[in-house]
Amino acid sequence: MRNISLPQRSQRTFWSPVKAHSAGAPAGFDRMGWARRFCGTGFLGSDIGKDYKLKSMDLPDARERMVTVQVAGRGVRDARVLAAMREVPRHRFVPEAMAGDAYQDRPLPIGEGQTISQPYMVAAMTAALAPGAADRVLEVGTGSGYQAAILARLAGSVVTIERHAALAARARATIDALGIANIRVVVGDGSNGYPDEAPYDRILVTAGAPAVPESLKAQLADGGRLVIPVGSEGLQHLIVVERRADAFTTSEGEGCVFVPLIGEHGWPASR
Ligand code: SAH
Repeated sequence: MRNISLPQRSQRTFWSPVKAHSAGAPAGFDRMGWARRFCGTGFLGSDIGKDYKLKSMDLPDARERMVTVQVAGRGVRDARVLAAMREVPRHRFVPEAMAGDAYQDRPLPIGEGQTISQPYMVAAMTAALAPGAADRVLEVGTGSGYQAAILARLAGSVVTIERHAALAARARATIDALGIANIRVVVGDGSNGYPDEAPYDRILVTAGAPAVPESLKAQLADGGRLVIPVGSEGLQHLIVVERRADAFTTSEGEGCVFVPLIGEHGWPASR
């Protein structure tokens, strides 16, 4: 594994984490229920809102509409998650030519055959993860860095690991350009987790795995929570694993479609 973190920049006040207003599971949010309607990084289609090419001056409005219609409108009620989605400029995490599409109700290509997840999916997974303000979080599958930026608004610190060095470098550049100081980007096989900084209060995997990797369970702190899509390459179910001492409880949601987790505890690279 190669750590490509650059020296941390001084933190802009803009990026001070959102203060926790409550602990534990978000009020009024059915952790698994969201998956029954919308899931996956793949485009499932939607008739909610029309997709327009936007000019840069329209982007804040588009972001507000994204949160109100696509996210809150579908039942994510966690105020901290909604605030983070309002604050993080998603258009900065997509290729420049696609900035005008960044607030559409779908995933977008980011290179290397990978995608930035649909906004609703990011919000719903974040709400399911329910990170606390001081939590140490591991994300597996950095991609564009957008999900990591959302997590960084809500948690104490985020380590995010990506197997494609080019995507990791681009994500790092975006994160630095926005002055986000509490994210560390690592290149490597995240199906092994990132033992160097374990244990983690929260682990979020944003690629589909054949099974819950034992390596990730082992890196969960006592009281920790892991959210991961598990299943075949074509269809997964969202799994939430919670750890109390050495006991693990697992709950399963509905079907989702994510790009594959490729690695030692994921799918083989040759597929
Ligand atoms: N969270 C991302 C989107 C995830 S797409 C965002 O906000 O943009 C899933 C990502 O997981 C892809 O970038 C893919 O390259 C990466 N990935 C797949 N297998 C991996 C592994 N074993 N370790 C680290 N990253 C992996």
